Amino acid sequence: MTMLFYNIAIIDSDGETKENMNVRTDGAFITSIEPCNCDLTDAQKRENEVYDGSGKLLIPGFFNNHSHVPMTLTRGYGEKLPLADWLYKRIFPFEALLTEEDVYWGSMLGIAEMLRSGTVSFTDMYMRIQGVFRAVMETGIKASLSNGLTGDDTTVLEETAWYRETEQMRRDAETSDGRVIANASLHAQYTSVPALVRAIADYARGNELRMHVHLSETEQEHEQCKELHGKTPTAYFTELGLFDVPTTAAHAIFIEGEDYDLLRDQGVTLCHMPSSNLKIGSGLADVKSWHDHDIRVTIGTDGAGSNNNLDMIEEVTLASYLAKGIHRDPLLFSTGDLLTFATRNGALAQGREDTGLLEPGFRADLAVVDMNAFHFQPMYDYGTSLFTNANASDVALTMVDGRILYRDGKLMTIDIEKVIWNVNRVRDEKLAQLNG
Ligand SMILES: [Zn+2]
Repeated sequence: MTMLFYNIAIIDSDGETKENMNVRTDGAFITSIEPCNCDLTDAQKRENEVYDGSGKLLIPGFFNNHSHVPMTLTRGYGEKLPLADWLYKRIFPFEALLTEEDVYWGSMLGIAEMLRSGTVSFTDMYMRIQGVFRAVMETGIKASLSNGLTGDDTTVLEETAWYRETEQMRRDAETSDGRVIANASLHAQYTSVPALVRAIADYARGNELRMHVHLSETEQEHEQCKELHGKTPTAYFTELGLFDVPTTAAHAIFIEGEDYDLLRDQGVTLCHMPSSNLKIGSGLADVKSWHDHDIRVTIGTDGAGSNNNLDMIEEVTLASYLAKGIHRDPLLFSTGDLLTFATRNGALAQGREDTGLLEPGFRADLAVVDMNAFHFQPMYDYGTSLFTNANASDVALTMVDGRILYRDGKLMTIDIEKVIWNVNRVRDEKLAQLNG
């Protein structure tokens, strides 16, 4: 099955816009990218499908590098509360009632939103994760999945639900044709103890799993770790071996001093989620410093409880504007850098070498942004319009492994009415249980 994106704009690997290009896919891969100098009728005879790219921009699809996708179920539940009340009075009691089936419906809703906004893969941390796996397999998206381990001195790793789910996910991933990767995941420093950190680090090393963790998200957790252990969370995790395997650390707002060198030297990827950081009032990460220290930067949305959407275009645009404003430098960051954060870097963080780039030989994990609408006019540059003018609703097509999963308002693998009915049913059931 071949498809030709005909006469479309792209952003090349130097971050420069190229107009009037032809990008061809065959099966799951990109096979050629060249100037559009062939006749449309000839192309239509040759290819299985020709897609009219006029007024549109083709990019690698987004890699949402930190999410809790089933938290769509708690979107809007517990607004206007301080963080501790939101978590302990609303989110945790609600989540304690969720079944694997509930998690499946929440995941379907989140994946629908991601596909509609150009995301091709996500890195998730949640619970009852076989429900997330089922949704990923049905919808055609890619994902790195994990359960976030929490525990205290009495916790024995092998006796936890975490262990059962992670072992199952490793077996499930084998059946996913490479779309799902099983990760090990520690929820955070403040929700674990040193022996447990050591145990999960050993488990990840022994089974060659990547690690996913929340790191220095709030000032309180960062300072408490220094008081309790005499070192920053980064130094603490380093000493316990958590970063011995490739790791994605989310937030990293309060990292300081030696932390930067420790993270870079161990190849830790940091994930920036400005909407969540701002909404929860945690603070602002200094992404320029990450970048200046040659730490791999990625972008994520976090869960819909704290964002409240899963829109990567909005997230990258916000990251860009914050960096510009904080450093009073309108050149932070280039379009090429921003796109790399949200695509190739996310793919590499997931361990997917063969995607995240618009180049022949790479997987056809792609998104098309339609820039024909009036809010893009008059058009000067398609590339620079991406993280300034575009909205999630401007995404016209999302493709994973050469398969179109979203196009012109239609989700190909999701019955969205059924999903909406079910997430509202789950809400009603849980509220009845909580209030009964
Ligand atoms: Zn998170």
